[in-house]
Amino acid sequence: MTTSATDFDVVIIGAGPAGLSLARALADTALSIAVVERQSRAVLETPPFDGREIALSHHSVALLKRYGAWDRIPGQAVSPMAEARVLNGPTSLHALRFHPMGRDDAPLGVLVPNHLIRRSLFESVAPCGTVQLLTEKTGAAIETNQDSATLTLTDGSRLTGKLIVAADTRMSEMRRRMGISARMRDFGKTMMVCRMSHDTPHNAIATEWFGYGQTVAILPLNGTEANPNVSSLVLTLPGHQIERLMALDTDAFSAEITERYQHRLGEMRLIGTRHPYPLVCVYADRFVGRRFALAGDAAVGMHPVTAHGFNFGMLGAETLAGLVAQVAKSGGDIGGTSVLVRYEARHRRATLPLYLGTNATASLYTDDRFPARVARDAVIFAGELLAPVRRAVAARLMQRSVSRSGRAA
Ligand SMILES: Cc1cc2nc3c(=O)[nH]c(=O)nc-3n(C[C@H](O)[C@H](O)[C@H](O)COP(=O)(O)OP(=O)(O)OC[C@H]3O[C@@H](n4cnc5c(N)ncnc54)[C@H](O)[C@@H]3O)c2cc1C
Repeated sequence: MTTSATDFDVVIIGAGPAGLSLARALADTALSIAVVERQSRAVLETPPFDGREIALSHHSVALLKRYGAWDRIPGQAVSPMAEARVLNGPTSLHALRFHPMGRDDAPLGVLVPNHLIRRSLFESVAPCGTVQLLTEKTGAAIETNQDSATLTLTDGSRLTGKLIVAADTRMSEMRRRMGISARMRDFGKTMMVCRMSHDTPHNAIATEWFGYGQTVAILPLNGTEANPNVSSLVLTLPGHQIERLMALDTDAFSAEITERYQHRLGEMRLIGTRHPYPLVCVYADRFVGRRFALAGDAAVGMHPVTAHGFNFGMLGAETLAGLVAQVAKSGGDIGGTSVLVRYEARHRRATLPLYLGTNATASLYTDDRFPARVARDAVIFAGELLAPVRRAVAARLMQRSVSRSGRAA
């Protein structure tokens, strides 16, 4: 379908999980795909540990299996999450619980290190003959017209396609270049993630504790012989406090975290590197333009508390690839309005309620003024009584069927 090395059907900017998922999903068609990534091939082949442990939904696991990526992740790195609990305030009286849906003893979800998912996706894309990975290349400008779209790189070279997709992070430069505005919510906090070993077993229970002045998430990981009890710590605090914690030596840091977590897991000890991330959420006002679409965090950059950013990135890539494949099969225009309008509608419907709900919940739980404390006590207590609310959240993680038309059942 293409005529030269710079002429493709689809050009994707960004080889993060969303860009790679889209490329892999499209590789099943006869379309030619370019993936432009500013990082080196060596980094894509062996991404470094970045502290993120991704809670994958059953649907995302099914997609990774379909893409041939899942079996490339070592089994020891896949930690089951049996249940998730939300605790409130210093005494944590009420716990909102998220249970599995009771289907064939499956866990609520699984936790997998982000760098291993990225590596497995890269390994599943690299052998695809229809996908060209252009590394150490940076997208700079996009021009589109009735018939095609052109991406200009910072080295001056140009790539053309029928459709350009930007999967270039939540601070997407390409989104801005295409004149697409976004709702941005800066929580004014920083998250620090790292692995800790501890005395008491976690029993595969993930815990999000909204203590006053800090949020502490503990994600249960598989242990090793040397460290049988291991969890990922996600600590959210104002930036200057995270800076101070990052500068502490291992002993002082471990002692402070043990105190901050009120010895719930006994003594805790840092067993790896610490990684800070600013807490900024983004929702693009439009997901599409002329011959242009946003994918992954560039479209929807979620607050991590409900663990859906990555899952939504995979879902959106599946939706877009399904629509493009359908139209390509019938010889239609893969970058035309009918594909883009349907992608926009479906992905918005799938993501907006949870985006708004997550931000509202996160705002309530991190507001330490007295009325908010009372309100969130009530919300957690009500949530404990209202089984349907809990089931709705768990259902998203447990969602598992994958259709080839791009719809998750
Ligand atoms: C601490 C933390 C915990 C999280 N936990 C979860 C979780 O449990 N579950 C979950 O579902 N999600 C989670 N997330 C969210 C998840 O990590 C993100 O949603 C996901 O990584 C976004 O993938 P992406 O491909 O859209 O963007 P990215 O991973 O940011 O990749 C974008 C790529 O684009 C490249 N790029 C950018 N600009 C250009 C350009 N101009 N030219 C060329 N290349 C470019 C970058 O180099 C990068 O490789 C978490 C996030 C954080 C920070």
